[in-house]
Amino acid sequence: MAKLKKVLIANRGEIALRILRACRELGISTVAAHSTADRQQSHVLLADETVCIGPPPSSASYLNMPAIISAAEVTDANAIHPGYGFLAENADFAESVEQSGFVFIGPKPETIRLMGDKISAKEAMRRVGVPCVPGSDGAIGRDPDENLAMARDIGFPVIVKAAGGGGGRGMRVIHKEASLQDAIALTRQEADAAFGNATLYMEKYLEGPRHIEFQVLADHHGNVIHLGERDCSMQRRHQKVIEESPAPDISQSQRQELGKICADACREIGYRGAGTMEFLYENGGFFFIEMNTRVQVEHPVTEMVTGIDLVRAQLQIAAGEPLPWKQEDIELRGHAIECRVNAEDPEKFIPAPGTVTQWHPPGGPGVRVDSHLYSGYTVPPYYDSLIAKLITFAETRELALARMRNTLDEVVIEGIHTNVPLLQDLCNDQRFLEGATEIHYLEKRLGL
Ligand code: ADP
Repeated sequence: MAKLKKVLIANRGEIALRILRACRELGISTVAAHSTADRQQSHVLLADETVCIGPPPSSASYLNMPAIISAAEVTDANAIHPGYGFLAENADFAESVEQSGFVFIGPKPETIRLMGDKISAKEAMRRVGVPCVPGSDGAIGRDPDENLAMARDIGFPVIVKAAGGGGGRGMRVIHKEASLQDAIALTRQEADAAFGNATLYMEKYLEGPRHIEFQVLADHHGNVIHLGERDCSMQRRHQKVIEESPAPDISQSQRQELGKICADACREIGYRGAGTMEFLYENGGFFFIEMNTRVQVEHPVTEMVTGIDLVRAQLQIAAGEPLPWKQEDIELRGHAIECRVNAEDPEKFIPAPGTVTQWHPPGGPGVRVDSHLYSGYTVPPYYDSLIAKLITFAETRELALARMRNTLDEVVIEGIHTNVPLLQDLCNDQRFLEGATEIHYLEKRLGL
């Protein structure tokens, strides 16, 4: 590929390995930029070149923009893939990557900025005809009477959310008028402390929606397609636990209708790269909540049902190539499910780092394992606890679930605690098997 010769991977764990593999297939050299805690990561051991970018805390390494840009400089890389998390949705980072003369594998910095502020994202989407959750028109002010009037107007329960929030943090549900003012003040404080941005907005709190998101791909030439949807309703603390594609009971006409709205919206805002538009789905209606301007953890389920390699597509788009597919080429075939395996206590959900004494990945037809684990690998305490993604694919949802149950029975991870017992439990859960779970289901089931 002309434009991408050497890609610096500014991430760790399974996604770093995923990106490395995609680069290799395209004949692109790789540089692993890693912290001192990650010298023994699979992708660091496999990369063509490695650069240490700092000590273990991510603030000093994976979030250290000058160190990452210098690493690209000294290794003569010509592009940077940010993966997900860390700096993937940091517009300032994307901007300095481009200003330093490297290709940022992602959207334009101004698009990241627009979508990174959830208020401007909603406004932009509303303008181009995407249905949004009813709520405040922009930010809420500091006048208690006005806020109360607005909440009454929207109708309790409402949710206040931080414009700069992410990762399921910076939001609070308010059921009663009496708790409104205190809840707003508390969320504002938290938002300021966590994101350096005290701006809040208000939405109707939907009590039983499903989380359904659409995958899009857009190139530099104005071509945009959608790759159908994923259902990520199985969540705990707004964090996804199990994802699948297609979403149960979504018809082809619903998919085509909303997919087209998403693709048109992306064309309208000049989007490029891979992106995800997230919706809540209730009583047959879709309501936009946010857009993620990067590859998602759950991207494999879309890859399995469409046959399209999303990370390769990201690289090809960044290299300036036109999308090789038209919308009519995209067809969802079969069903795929992903379970996120975390190094954590399965009951208390406390992270459980440590050394993996035995790792035996599952296998068989329709089974995919995206993981950086190996026997003897030590899960460091500094980062996210995701250690493996188990993905199954089959002709039907029922078969994909049966495969997932086998997969969860087969996988061996010894030496640390994982949430595999919880995942096993969920893959035998009657409501989940019926495809009828909404976003609050898991927490209710756990008695939270
Ligand atoms: P983040 O960027 O932190 O992931 P989102 O806006 O995507 O935040 O919301 C994350 C999750 O929070 C959603 O998947 C859903 O479970 C819940 N949520 C957000 N907004 C609402 C709402 N208006 N009503 C009900 N649940 C909501």
